[in-house]
Amino acid sequence: MSKLALGILGGGQLGSMLAQAAKKINIKTIIYCDDKDAPARELSDEFIYGNYEDKKNLEKFIEKVEIITFEFENIPFKTLDYLSKFKKVYPNPTVNKTLQNRLFEKNFVNKLGIKTTNYVSINNAEEIIKNKSLLPGLLKTTTLGYDGKGQYKINKTDEINNLKINFSNKYILEKFINLKKEISVVLTRYHGNKFEIYEPIENEHKDQILKHSKIPAVVDDNIMEKSKEWAKNIATELDYIGTMCVEFFIDDNNELYVNEIAPRVHNSGHLTINAFNISQFENHIRAVCNLERISLKKISNAQMINILGDEIIEYRKKKFNNNEFFFDYMKKKIKLKRKMGHLTILKN
Ligand code: AMP
Repeated sequence: MSKLALGILGGGQLGSMLAQAAKKINIKTIIYCDDKDAPARELSDEFIYGNYEDKKNLEKFIEKVEIITFEFENIPFKTLDYLSKFKKVYPNPTVNKTLQNRLFEKNFVNKLGIKTTNYVSINNAEEIIKNKSLLPGLLKTTTLGYDGKGQYKINKTDEINNLKINFSNKYILEKFINLKKEISVVLTRYHGNKFEIYEPIENEHKDQILKHSKIPAVVDDNIMEKSKEWAKNIATELDYIGTMCVEFFIDDNNELYVNEIAPRVHNSGHLTINAFNISQFENHIRAVCNLERISLKKISNAQMINILGDEIIEYRKKKFNNNEFFFDYMKKKIKLKRKMGHLTILKN
């Protein structure tokens, strides 16, 4: 029997880990990416280099694949929508339309009766002044911002001028929360509304970039259950197929808030490769290809450390213990704060 051919848009570290998981279960991967040096190039069965709006190259991709998925949410909606006219795309492209925009995303979550931080849409400085009750706050671009990119911390209205905010972008202003903890719930939704849900993961960010993740998360049972329930409700409402992640804030009053939803495998879920029988990547492949669902079993508690920028140089020289798993994303260029690899340490 010939292998099922799965197309993946995006060839970064997430695409690489998806391709590796697919290989393990005998699925052929064809990666389409706009970076010809993408790390996943060597790990996929086939690689197509092209712009995400280049119909000619996309057609070549369509011909080679049976099912299409993607490694990151900023693939243009138009591209996903176009591809979905020819082949099944999972998760469905309308998910991205909602989640690519922070304002639409927050409106969607609140409509489900699920809490987010207080926020308002902002188009100019006057609107910030009008909403000064949300200060101290974070001004975030509605689209294309991640890892703190496109964000401004505003404590008081008299700081606005100095920040030289580019108002040709659209923003939301979000109330700043006294964070006690951040957690995430990674889950996989299969056809037929069936779920595999990983236990909540505790995350620590540095300069708005994820630095450490660990299981078990040290939170009370109520938060454990509520976070899983909310994530499940969100996935059901989106009619999601595949692995996704919901990131949460917990404030110093022990209130839970949804921060954001990633319609893809997620950095905080990297520890699932070593700590569970089935990783978030394999679960994603299984769900989008409609393969057998295998019940999750935890093998070990774990901690994951993100390796950023030139930290990778030392890690490449290190020797590791049997319970330590080093992943080098083999990126050609080292850049400040760029995710270059990760280390997972299994713990009792
Ligand atoms: P984001 O890109 O929105 O996920 O933000 C990145 C990180 O910035 C989060 O994981 C938090 O550590 C921090 N952050 C974002 N929004 C807030 C907020 N409203 N209050 C406090 N910290 C925040």
